[in-house]
Amino acid sequence: MQTNLSRRSFIKAVASASLVVGFQAASGTWVTAAHAAEAGDFAKLPPLDGTLHLDEATRNEYAQDFGQIVHEQPLAVLKPGSPRDISRVIRFARRNGIPIVGRGKSHTTFGQSQVQAGLVIDMSTLASIHAITDETITVDAGMRWYDLLKATLEQGLMPPVLPDYIGQTVGGTLSVGGIGGMSFKFGAQIDHVLELTVITGTGAVLRCSLTENRDLFETVLAGQGQVAVIVQAVLRLMPAPTNVRLYDLFYADLPTMMADLNLLMEEERFDQMEGWLLPQPNGGWAYLLEVIAFHAPDGPPDDATLLAGLHHVTSATQTADLSFWAWASRIPLDFPKRPRPWIDLFLPGSTALDFLGHVQATLRPLAADDRFSVLLIPMRPARSTRPLFRVPNEAYAFGFDILRTAPNDPAAIEAILAYNRELYDKNRAMGGTNYPISAVRLTPEDWQRHYGPEFPRLLAARHRYDPDNVFASGPDMFRNNQ
Ligand SMILES: Cc1cc2nc3c(=O)[nH]c(=O)nc-3n(C[C@H](O)[C@H](O)[C@H](O)COP(=O)(O)OP(=O)(O)OC[C@H]3O[C@@H](n4cnc5c(N)ncnc54)[C@H](O)[C@@H]3O)c2cc1C
Repeated sequence: MQTNLSRRSFIKAVASASLVVGFQAASGTWVTAAHAAEAGDFAKLPPLDGTLHLDEATRNEYAQDFGQIVHEQPLAVLKPGSPRDISRVIRFARRNGIPIVGRGKSHTTFGQSQVQAGLVIDMSTLASIHAITDETITVDAGMRWYDLLKATLEQGLMPPVLPDYIGQTVGGTLSVGGIGGMSFKFGAQIDHVLELTVITGTGAVLRCSLTENRDLFETVLAGQGQVAVIVQAVLRLMPAPTNVRLYDLFYADLPTMMADLNLLMEEERFDQMEGWLLPQPNGGWAYLLEVIAFHAPDGPPDDATLLAGLHHVTSATQTADLSFWAWASRIPLDFPKRPRPWIDLFLPGSTALDFLGHVQATLRPLAADDRFSVLLIPMRPARSTRPLFRVPNEAYAFGFDILRTAPNDPAAIEAILAYNRELYDKNRAMGGTNYPISAVRLTPEDWQRHYGPEFPRLLAARHRYDPDNVFASGPDMFRNNQ
């Protein structure tokens, strides 16, 4: 008993001596209680409701993301216990010249949620639902769409747009756009945000919407965390179906599938749809249109009406009936760690076929364990309303993704990154744009071109709401802390 007690007090004494009490900006190091007396001038850490993690293991964990290509080790990781923690830590970081990045579930692929020698704010510790009405949900930005949907379905409701995969956080997709099989009808997830509560680069907590602090609202949505951290969102909801019928329609060639996709975008016969280009073992491709009709348990849709006039290979059609939840949560939440140099672009409808022809002619596996498929998400850009969401200015467009699992080989990854850049350039020359979740090496000049006429809007908001450039430009968006 005596031994145990003294061991416990010994551990306590060591723990409090190694407790970090502040940061010395001159040396860029943390100051522990044991060395505080001889440390000279240092900034004291603010009191926190949550925890600040400085240990090597945690910092290594946050030097990774879904892409497993970029590894930037932060100085510390904040797991906030309250929005007040975020304000306090932003103010502390600002005073001490420490860059900050907000992070959801790190499903971006190229270091977007990492920061070298800075501070990561892991938003997933703040993940509560505050209110659900018949038309809206008020939710913390750290909540995953998976948990949000589960809760809204209990009320018979859903967000108008869901991504294919719902393991990301609300703040993570609102920072980039958030698209899925319903986007041809309802735009992106950011089009259904009614109000945000954010914390700016000065630590100020502000509400914003189309009628309050509009400049902030419109640069936080699809703004890649460059202006403020999103802590809470009020989102639109709509009635959800209980069941879906899934039709897998196979096509003999790509032009026929694209023509049907355009027709179906115009007619809106289905509730969701996406196209796939699937490489075949013989070197060819299969073309699959995945279309979904929502329905109630007692009323399956009329197949003949829905499929009339389409040009798929009718003998190959497959159908399946699922609950809406089974469909919406079809992709498992966790993936094994492998390099995933995905590229994600928006193709103008008018050039999509040419661009896809080039991809089919040039996309080749570099090794046996280099696997990929190509996803097409139909979009009608007129339905996207937020200025920083850069989609081609045409009647139809396509989200284009090469979903790739690459060999664990630096040379192969470099070759894939070079190929991604080539595709990015080609698409840009054809009038296309970038979806900024991609593993594509971009310069500040590329970002300026990406935002085009909206770049001054982003810059003005950054100067106003983050005057000391606290938010790290993770994707290296700005030249010399512009
Ligand atoms: C398997 C898989 C499937 C996917 N499917 C789709 C899809 O169908 N549609 C689609 O649109 N996307 C899809 N994505 C991409 C994904 O939606 C984006 O990468 C999204 O940004 C990831 O969210 P996250 O919570 O993981 O955010 P993170 O990757 O952690 O962060 C993404 C960016 O947002 C910033 N950020 C995160 N949280 C906040 C916050 N609270 N405030 C301010 N900035 C913040 C980060 O700094 C970073 O710049 C998919 C990704 C994967 C891995």
